[in-house]
Amino acid sequence: MKPKSFAYVRPDSVEEAVDLLAQHGEDARIIAGGQSLMAMLNLRLVEPSILVDISQLKELSEIGVRDGAVEVGASVTQARLLAWPELKARAPFIALALPWVGHFQTRNRGTVCGSIAHADPSSELPLSLRLLGGEVVLRSKKGSRKVKAEAFQQGLLTTARRPDELITAVRFPVGVGAEGAGFREVARRHGDFAIVAVGAVKVAGSIRVAVGGVADRPGLLELPAGGSEAERRQAIEDFAWELGGYDDIHASARYRRDLVRRLAPIIISEAA
Ligand SMILES: Cc1cc2nc3c(=O)[nH]c(=O)nc-3n(C[C@H](O)[C@H](O)[C@H](O)COP(=O)(O)OP(=O)(O)OC[C@H]3O[C@@H](n4cnc5c(N)ncnc54)[C@H](O)[C@@H]3O)c2cc1C
Repeated sequence: MKPKSFAYVRPDSVEEAVDLLAQHGEDARIIAGGQSLMAMLNLRLVEPSILVDISQLKELSEIGVRDGAVEVGASVTQARLLAWPELKARAPFIALALPWVGHFQTRNRGTVCGSIAHADPSSELPLSLRLLGGEVVLRSKKGSRKVKAEAFQQGLLTTARRPDELITAVRFPVGVGAEGAGFREVARRHGDFAIVAVGAVKVAGSIRVAVGGVADRPGLLELPAGGSEAERRQAIEDFAWELGGYDDIHASARYRRDLVRRLAPIIISEAA
C-alpha cells in the first residue's frame, strides 16, 4: 500500500517545528528516522496531513552530560549513540541493550528519541529508560517540561506527549548500571523485535529489573540485593503474573511469562 498524500516540511529550527505542531495539532506528525513511521504510513495506520522532518536539526544533534544525565538530542541516531566514545563509562546499560535494537541499517537512521516516542512495548530503549529512571524532555510553544519514564509510556504506542509537543531529548542518569548490569532478549531472529526482553542493574543495595514485551509497557521490579534465592524466585513469579501478557502470532501470554521466569534469574545474577 502507499501512504495517503501529505505535505512535507523540514524546519530550520526547533522553534519553527513547534510552531508547525501548534498550528496543525493532531494532523501533524514528526518524522525522525522514519523506521517505524514509514511502515505505519504505508499501512495507513496513521494518515497525517503534514510531516515535520526533524532529522537534520543541528540544535537536536548533541549527545552530552548535563545535570547528572546523558542527554541525547532528538536527531541523534541509535548508531551515533552506540559509537559515542563515553557510552560504556557513562551509560553502561545502554551499551549492552542498544546493539539489540534492529539492525545496523535501521540504527543508522532510527533515532533514540524516535524509539521512545513510538513506545512499542517490546522496544529496548523504552525499557532502558524505565530501568534507569530516565526522563523525556518535551517542548511546545508554551514552554518545556520533563516527564519521568514511569509516567511517559502509558500503553501500547501511547505516551504522555501532547500533540503540540516535540521530544527534544531523552535523559539517562549517568552511571546507573556501573555496579553491575545485564540484558537479554528472546526474538525469532537477531534484530527482530523481542518477544520478551529483560534488563537488570545493581543500584545501591538493590537490583532493579525491567521487562519488555509482556505487558503494554515496560514493567519494573525492585529486589533487595541480599534476598534469599527462594524470595527472589517468588518475587519473579509474582511479577510475571502482574505483567499479565498477551497472545499474538509470535507467542502466547503463557510463553511470555515463562520467558520472564527463565530469563530474569540469569540477568539478575549477571547484574549482581
Ligand atoms: C527491520 C526493522 C527492525 C527493527 N527492529 C527493532 C528492534 O528490534 N527494536 C526496536 O526497538 N526497534 C526496532 N525497529 C524500529 C526502529 O528502532 C525505529 O527506529 C524506532 O522505533 C523509531 O525511531 P525513528 O527515529 O525511526 O522514528 P520515526 O519512525 O520517524 O517515528 C516513530 C514515531 O515517533 C514519533 N516521533 C519521532 N521522533 C519524535 C520526536 N522527537 N518528538 C515527537 N514525536 C516523535 C513519530 O511521529 C512517529 O509517531 C525496527 C525497525 C525496522 C525497520
